[in-house]
Amino acid sequence: MQAEIRAENNKPETKKKFDVIIIGAGPSGYTAAIYTSRAKRDTLVISGMLPGGQLMLTTEVENYPGFSEGILGPELMTTMRKQTERMGATIIDDEAVNVDFRRKPFKVLTYSEEYEADAVIIATGASPRKLGAKGEQEFSAKGVSYCATCDGPFFKNQEIVVAGGGDSAMEEAIFLTKFAKNVHVIHRKDKLRASKIMQDRAFENNKIKFHWNSVIDEIKGSEKVNQIMIRDVTTNNQETMDVGGLFVAIGHEPNTKLFKGQIELDDQGYIVLKNHTHTNIDGIFAAGDVHDHRYRQAITAAGFGCMAAIDVDKYLSESRRK
Ligand code: NAP
Repeated sequence: MQAEIRAENNKPETKKKFDVIIIGAGPSGYTAAIYTSRAKRDTLVISGMLPGGQLMLTTEVENYPGFSEGILGPELMTTMRKQTERMGATIIDDEAVNVDFRRKPFKVLTYSEEYEADAVIIATGASPRKLGAKGEQEFSAKGVSYCATCDGPFFKNQEIVVAGGGDSAMEEAIFLTKFAKNVHVIHRKDKLRASKIMQDRAFENNKIKFHWNSVIDEIKGSEKVNQIMIRDVTTNNQETMDVGGLFVAIGHEPNTKLFKGQIELDDQGYIVLKNHTHTNIDGIFAAGDVHDHRYRQAITAAGFGCMAAIDVDKYLSESRRK
């Protein structure tokens, strides 16, 4: 029963004890694994159910250094995976479903096996909150985006919609005015949650139009998004807008449910780092969007992965010397 849940291409891993287990296979997880494997630390990567992370859902990535013509998100992640394997890490396409960080060696249970390690790097990332509107999933990466920095330049001279009323929505709306003809902010209330300074900047920008007390009921299109249906929640009147794209900026949710009660989390559920990449538990480290709600870029996640791996290497050397 459990084995059926495991990805098809995944063979059972016979080895059960590693120097380090990395949970998550986005840019931070793969980068961490490249570094720990190169440092001759026996490394297991548990990829989760979306190996490659959020970049598997994007199209072209133009701002990851090293690719002068840009690269497709899935291609970038496949390349990172191959590099990780070439360095000697073991990758299993399975999901961590339970952890025991209370005693050493640490234990990570997946759908099919239980693994042990002397150190763990949590690199499970964060997921953008979804609107739940009809058509949202169908048009994801076909005009519906969750990252203006990643996808904004593909929407030149178009009417663009941003959903949300927080700092992220204002930041994305302001950024998108560089490319868009107009940016329409659709917000479910009659006032913004964003900080005053971000509100002021957005209000001053004459390319940004506000649609208050409004929600998006449906996203329509053929190959790509070309219309959205919005509804005024005070009157229930519906309106159709012709648009080239929709950016959903209604917050992120860190993927930390698994660690609740064992790892210190902040009030939004992000992992709290203590000393560089160390968490509150000696031997457990975190890297990428799972602790970072400020930058949230593939390149910063990769950077954090590198940092966590260097910290793990030092930790293992020191703890084995004792
Ligand atoms: P946020 O502050 O939680 O705001 C989310 C926004 O989305 C709110 O306006 C909320 O509406 C709306 N929303 C939530 N769920 C919705 C749904 N299902 N349908 C429609 N609208 C929905 O998230 P955030 O803007 O990503 O910011 C997260 C944190 O990062 C905040 O602390 C923020 O200050 C910080 N941040 C700072 C900066 C900056 O300083 N430059 C930039 C980005 C983020 P309601 O208002 O009705 O709840």
